[in-house]
Amino acid sequence: MKSQKSFQNSAPTLYLVATPIGNLQEMTPRAIEVLKEVDVIAAEDTRNTIPLLRHFDISTRVIAHHMHNEKKSSDGLLELLDSGKSIALVSDAGYPLISDPGQVLVNRVIDAGYNVVTINGPSAMITALVASGLQTQPFTFVGFLSAQEKECRKQLEYWKEHEETLIFYEAPHRIEKMLKNCLDILGDRRMCLARELTKRFEEYLRGNISEILEVVSECKGEMVIVMEGYKKEERERLSTMELIQIVDQYIEQGMSATDAIKRTAKEYGISKNEVYRNYFS
Ligand code: SAM
Repeated sequence: MKSQKSFQNSAPTLYLVATPIGNLQEMTPRAIEVLKEVDVIAAEDTRNTIPLLRHFDISTRVIAHHMHNEKKSSDGLLELLDSGKSIALVSDAGYPLISDPGQVLVNRVIDAGYNVVTINGPSAMITALVASGLQTQPFTFVGFLSAQEKECRKQLEYWKEHEETLIFYEAPHRIEKMLKNCLDILGDRRMCLARELTKRFEEYLRGNISEILEVVSECKGEMVIVMEGYKKEERERLSTMELIQIVDQYIEQGMSATDAIKRTAKEYGISKNEVYRNYFS
């Protein structure tokens, strides 16, 4: 066990400083003060951080701290702390460590017995979650799913029966594929796509996955996906026999088996795979 009384010791400190996710007015006075006072700012990408610092008249020395050289770069930052310097870690936007570098550094700084202090600010995932209209607690922040199709589907299979709200980050060029995989594996759940948060073109799309898929090709910019959790009770309401009867009814009405399965999955918010498995088992 280790206790850290953040403001009652003289040990060097690593500050984790959250920065705006779009709107610069969300930069807090405390963040500005800390960034001015530390000896060094370690930044995910100095090209993005330097203009931000300039905007707030901050002239502290900036060094790079990338995800791909975190181990090596942490050695240098630890040496600075050893020599009594204080450091602020920032990412391009929002919180460092949240889908961004910093985890290796934070663990090493804690192990070395120095302070790690968060300076709060905007967070894309929390902004999206609270305005999503979906259950805010419990929730799981998943972050980015794998860019590899097979791995992405495997990850979704893992999350499929989790009852808490799920939060994903995704890039605009991958969102359509991602939502197709979600529809296929998670079923047609309610979701919210929150994009360009705090910026001029901020938009929330709230609806079922299939509804959002119809318009998603037009969605640009940065986006957060808030996904309703697994509804155990609803699934349990339907026995396998009932599922088969529903599919059969659609087939009797003239649908192909594939369409009948798709329709049942959509209507009852169950994944196609699950209906398929039950129907053909
Ligand atoms: N460290 C950041 C945080 O605390 O949220 C996340 C960095 S991650 C590399 C970038 C992703 O965060 C984007 O692809 C998007 O999913 C999400 N994001 C960041 N800013 C956003 C914004 N203004 N609106 C919507 N999503 C945003």
